[in-house]
Amino acid sequence: MARNGGSRQPVSVKRPGTASATTTAHVANDATKGKVEKGVPVKRNARRTGQKLSQKAPLVAKSPKTKVAKLVVATIVLERLKAEYPDAHCELDYQNSFELLCATILSAQCTDVRVNLTTPALFLRFGNAGALAEAALGEVEEIVRSTGFFRAKAKSLVGMARALTAQHSGNVPNSIPELIALPGVGRKTANVILGNAFNINDGIVVDTHVQRLSRRLGLTREPDPIGIEKALMPLFPREDWALLSHLLIWHGRRVCFARKPACATCVLRAVCPSADTLT
Ligand code: SF4
Repeated sequence: MARNGGSRQPVSVKRPGTASATTTAHVANDATKGKVEKGVPVKRNARRTGQKLSQKAPLVAKSPKTKVAKLVVATIVLERLKAEYPDAHCELDYQNSFELLCATILSAQCTDVRVNLTTPALFLRFGNAGALAEAALGEVEEIVRSTGFFRAKAKSLVGMARALTAQHSGNVPNSIPELIALPGVGRKTANVILGNAFNINDGIVVDTHVQRLSRRLGLTREPDPIGIEKALMPLFPREDWALLSHLLIWHGRRVCFARKPACATCVLRAVCPSADTLT
């Protein structure tokens, strides 16, 4: 999948006498030598004793505070989640950018499963922006009723379709300013569309899972999605921004649950300052 070029190079932590490398193993080995962050206890004698670093061996006991420490954690998180979820992708069903835009609007406060049960009827009845722009609001409300907040969502869908028809010849635009000018579309939705329908990495989708995991992993303490997005962007290669959101969302849905995260089996527990503190 084509993606935009990266804005920074991957983290490269050099070991004396070795070439730079970007593997988790290299990062982990430097962590064991106490190079990550002063005051962060790590398994300093792991190399000397030949102790194997496993996902259960804690590398970081406290939240990473410096930029370098956060980069190290971010690199390990990305590598381990890529390995854990090689097929991570957007779990909304869609065939084109218009369908993804409709599905994403409906996904607010609703599960992707429920949205995917709802959209086939919507797309069958209103297959493009022109058709949806002419729709009777009440009919759209009935179709999307089960997704919750159905009156507001129906209003957004029809308003969005009318704006697409009037201002973009019925096509979904591919820039954040144009997208967030559409009814019912905020920055999160705009990032979903750009990253998945257009393969443009202009930002990072910050939903409830990305918020929760970013904080638990100590990558940010920002309280709001905009602040979290700004904090995450410099920590991850730009070409991975869309994938990063999928990986964090998949991990949040399958392991790092909101109430009882499954830390015992989590591939991130070695670098997670919240491991075993939430259950
Ligand atoms: S499941 Fe536990 S160890 Fe894994 S990321 Fe969540 S809080 Fe951290």
